[in-house]
Amino acid sequence: MAKEQTLSLIKPDGVARGLVGEVIGRFEKNGLQIRALKMVRLTLEEARAFYAVHQGRSFYDSLTRFMSSGPIVALILEGEEAIRRNRELMGATDWRQAEAGTIRADLARDIEANVVHGSDGPETAAREIAFFFSELEKA
Ligand code: UDP
Ligand code: MG
Repeated sequence: MAKEQTLSLIKPDGVARGLVGEVIGRFEKNGLQIRALKMVRLTLEEARAFYAVHQGRSFYDSLTRFMSSGPIVALILEGEEAIRRNRELMGATDWRQAEAGTIRADLARDIEANVVHGSDGPETAAREIAFFFSELEKA
């Protein structure tokens, strides 16, 4: 199985609540290697572009306001099956349905402010990595 890259975001709630180290520690302990890392604050327009796939959904306006409400941390994670394994570590979108021991089950208490984002497939990962990182920023 070849190595794969995925995009992870620690959302504004995760940064504001001081969970950056906790979340990154979970990636590292689980064999996901950090290949790029930065803190940024999205404008509303950038958040709307990033989540364009959800345009028209009931939660889109609120989600994109939330994602532009404060700093976030963006990471490229690399490893065997990194996309699936990151999604496993994150847990289900709704923390109430997330498996115990996952980031969202342990740390989130809100379906919107759910600490992390992770790419959901190879095409999404490529698009989302390019959205946040230039070639120069990749280790
Ligand atoms: N979201 C929400 N309400 C919903 C579904 C999603 O607020 O009913 C938010 C939540 O922050 C989620 C994001 O929209 O993480 C993107 O939704 P998606 O279905 O892609 O979930 P994810 O891939 O993040 O698990
Ligand atoms: Mg998603």
